Amino acid sequence: MKNLVLLGGGHAHVEVLGAMAKRPFDAGFQVHLVTPYRRQIYSGMLPGWIAGHYELAQCVIPLDTLAARAGAAFHETAVDALNLGTKSVHGADGTRLEFDLLSIDTGPVASLDQLPGAEEHALPLRPIERFVAAWPALIDRVAGQCKRFDLAILGAGAGGVELAFAVRRRALREGWSHFHVSLIGSEALPLSGVPEPARREALELLKRRGIAWHGGREASSFEEREIRLKDGASIAFDACWVVTGAAAPKWPETSGIGIDAQGFVRVTPTLQSRSHPNVFAAGDIASHATPLPKSGVYAVRAGEALAANLRLACAGEPPVPWNPQSKALYLISTGERHAMAVWGKVCLQGAWLWKLKHWIDTRYVRSKSRRSRSGHRP
Ligand SMILES: Cc1cc2nc3c(=O)[nH]c(=O)nc-3n(C[C@H](O)[C@H](O)[C@H](O)COP(=O)(O)OP(=O)(O)OC[C@H]3O[C@@H](n4cnc5c(N)ncnc54)[C@H](O)[C@@H]3O)c2cc1C
Repeated sequence: MKNLVLLGGGHAHVEVLGAMAKRPFDAGFQVHLVTPYRRQIYSGMLPGWIAGHYELAQCVIPLDTLAARAGAAFHETAVDALNLGTKSVHGADGTRLEFDLLSIDTGPVASLDQLPGAEEHALPLRPIERFVAAWPALIDRVAGQCKRFDLAILGAGAGGVELAFAVRRRALREGWSHFHVSLIGSEALPLSGVPEPARREALELLKRRGIAWHGGREASSFEEREIRLKDGASIAFDACWVVTGAAAPKWPETSGIGIDAQGFVRVTPTLQSRSHPNVFAAGDIASHATPLPKSGVYAVRAGEALAANLRLACAGEPPVPWNPQSKALYLISTGERHAMAVWGKVCLQGAWLWKLKHWIDTRYVRSKSRRSRSGHRP
């Protein structure tokens, strides 16, 4: 029996497991899912959980259940080494698995390398499980402190902006009148990567919601309760979240697989590694010749193509190229039951867009948790 190893329970592999549950891959392959947690907390709903719109259980995709429905063996560990010579992956718990085909969807890691002191004095958003586990302690600290409590959020991409709005909304709901939120971004406006009118609207909303904006400020290091900035100034905090974008883990580089300048796995349009065709990669960990946004939307879409190509590869047939959509709809929740939408150059906002986001997100997570009617039963 040959082995197909799926590394990471990210958005793309959730699609692969779903496709396998509907129609199993080639019977000559045993499929393995290797991932550090039994569940995947859906990042798109994380701000809604912080804001208090959702219970955590509503935001969770059960990876072990998906693996079981797909007939895949589940290994609960993080891989910290890939050996391309022996074609094996090595887990932090000592697990060693040999593969004939490997697929990588482990997502990004927090980008802390350039921020000395961040590990000790701040909380990165990834791994999301660690971030979520730290939330009750933060609530206790805020509730137990009478004087002003400052939460600084470093990183003003869509994730940082959504978290700032969400935690501000939660503070209002909890009656934390002493709680203040600051958002720190390296560019003059929040929401890098989206058209300027949308960024200006986001800035206006931050002001209206009472969130302090520190634009054009680059962090250089962390001390206890203080961010040092490159311009010599500093920002004091009681707690700090770091949401400074996606960095690559170290193990792809160590393995010798072809990577880009940031350390992400370089792939062909068929989602195969440029250096090792028996290795596939999708989602944020993959680097395409024409760069794609690092987003869940693209990871899901890539997952559909990945499923088809892994099925072909297991059957010994050549994979086919994936043509990603040129743009995607981004829905950015703004704390209240209100959201902004960005579609290319178009930007809208309103309560109806939050309803749309709520509908899309909850339907997505529910569809992954439900047993499909045509599903294969292991
Ligand atoms: C607050 C926030 C909100 C967001 N909202 C949206 C949104 O609304 N829409 C959108 O399109 N994008 C959104 N994003 C971006 C989105 O989260 C990422 O682009 C997306 O998660 C990437 O998916 P992925 O499949 O590459 O990896 P991930 O979803 O990160 O999944 C990676 C998986 O691999 C596992 N893993 C990690 N390391 C290892 C290892 N060493 N070995 C084995 N397994 C491992 C992880 O536990 C996880 O299961 C948001 C991001 C943030 C921070």
